[in-house]
Amino acid sequence: MNKFSMNFLQRTRYFNNRFFFRTYGVSSEDLEKIKKFKEEQAKIMGSNKRTINLLKDEFSRYKKGKFYPPEPKVPKYSEYVIIGGGIMGSSIAYALKNRAPDSFEVTVIERDPKYTRSSSALSVGGIRQQFSLEENIKLSLYSAEFLRNVKQHLSVLDDDPPDIQFQPQGYLFLATEDGVEQMLQNHKLQREIGAKVELLKPNHLKQKFPWLNVEGIAMGSYGFENEGWFDPWGLLSAFKKKACSLGAQYVNGEVIGFEFENHSLERGEDAKPSYQANYLYVKDEVGEIHCVEFGFLVIAAGAYSADVAKLLNIGQGDGLLSVPLPVEPRKRYVYVFNCDSGPGINMPLLIDPTGTYVRREGLGGKYICGRSPAPNEEPDVSNLEVDYNFFESSVWPHLSKRIPIFDCIKVSSAWAGYYDYNTFDQNVLFGPHPAYPNIFFATGFSGHGIQMAPAIGRAMMELLIDKTYVTIDLQRFHLNRVFHNAPLYEQHIV
Ligand SMILES: Cc1cc2nc3c(=O)[nH]c(=O)nc-3n(C[C@H](O)[C@H](O)[C@H](O)COP(=O)(O)OP(=O)(O)OC[C@H]3O[C@@H](n4cnc5c(N)ncnc54)[C@H](O)[C@@H]3O)c2cc1C
Repeated sequence: MNKFSMNFLQRTRYFNNRFFFRTYGVSSEDLEKIKKFKEEQAKIMGSNKRTINLLKDEFSRYKKGKFYPPEPKVPKYSEYVIIGGGIMGSSIAYALKNRAPDSFEVTVIERDPKYTRSSSALSVGGIRQQFSLEENIKLSLYSAEFLRNVKQHLSVLDDDPPDIQFQPQGYLFLATEDGVEQMLQNHKLQREIGAKVELLKPNHLKQKFPWLNVEGIAMGSYGFENEGWFDPWGLLSAFKKKACSLGAQYVNGEVIGFEFENHSLERGEDAKPSYQANYLYVKDEVGEIHCVEFGFLVIAAGAYSADVAKLLNIGQGDGLLSVPLPVEPRKRYVYVFNCDSGPGINMPLLIDPTGTYVRREGLGGKYICGRSPAPNEEPDVSNLEVDYNFFESSVWPHLSKRIPIFDCIKVSSAWAGYYDYNTFDQNVLFGPHPAYPNIFFATGFSGHGIQMAPAIGRAMMELLIDKTYVTIDLQRFHLNRVFHNAPLYEQHIV
């Protein structure tokens, strides 16, 4: 019998009779809890009385026509488990369940259900096709189409349709003489793939956007369709609600460890892949430990994905496990200000050659802006406090130079969030891990993840179910490139 076709009782017995191997990266306190959990499970399953009671219980439900036991709060088994219930985890859960609502269990494990630190809730929500890599352009084009039809995709029966406030007002990238060559190259590729972008000389820029100072600008690239911004929280909530309505289960808890087996010494035709992991430990809100068995695991833990990878010994072992996941949190500030006489409806999301960006927030004279710090300015990531001096020294001078009406603005509020920054090549790290054939990653978006979520969910679903890409081929984004030291750089990182 295949362990994935067992019923509840069979699975419980199988699970408890298994010999567990090691857990890595788990604190000694949690390790104690895991040990206790295992001892208690062994005691319970050792007792015939308990087994008889379970059988009686199942039989009485059978008599009442309710053969299957109610779903436990934390399931013992799920064919697909996703770590991280942010935009990526939720989009993947939606795509899997939307494909086949009744065929398999999908469980999303999220330790911060209010999303106080998750990047998705703290994002600026920009969407653009102005990238230098084919895959990124295609992912974003797919997502723009999805956002336009979001009500059709994500509405839930008897509930208001989702409102993600999509504002397709465009993106405007500005380049100095040094950046023109790259802009021309990108433009050619973007047009070939179907993105609606146009190049503008300084006099045209001034005509179209009279509030803009074009001093020092040699060219602008304006995306006039499918680019703009939306409400990230609105999209995250809509994905989650829809995924749940289709049967995905969200568990509030933190993944704190795994069990895995090392087959690397096995040889011959029947040799299994080098490592195998099918069990993880979750600590729930009250500190209780649960063990979940999975068929496939997706790690979509955003800026914390490398911490989860370490629990699987990734980056700490030998051979394929010696390469760490190159993702780390990088703190980014977003500043809010008012300017009653500032640019109105025709203002796109503007990116200055210095990387300073600004966009409208509604139509009441409110704006948000920011800039990624230079490598030597990277702030401490241990907290999400905002550095207001950074605005004064590194954002405002560029902002007021480019849009002179912003000369006497004052910051009214601000927030900070973490980019899930890929230190290797600033592009998504996608697909299976070479050492664990049933463990997949979707992380490392480095500041352009929220806009790709609809397409990433679909791509992961195709990879897991069809075992190939049907819509957009993302093979070049697979983790293998890190192992082969073959970076794939995206030139347009903001
Ligand atoms: C300030 C800012 C502005 C941005 N602007 C844009 C933009 O304009 N356009 C754009 O496309 N992108 C933007 N981004 C990037 C985008 O927001 C992210 O790439 C995207 O939200 C990543 O989504 P995620 O689901 O992978 O990560 P997250 O939203 O962080 O979700 C991961 C989740 O995993 C959970 N988790 C982690 N470890 C565990 C564990 N052990 N157990 C259980 N749960 C765990 C976390 O609690 C978290 O909620 C911006 C990001 C920031 C911070």
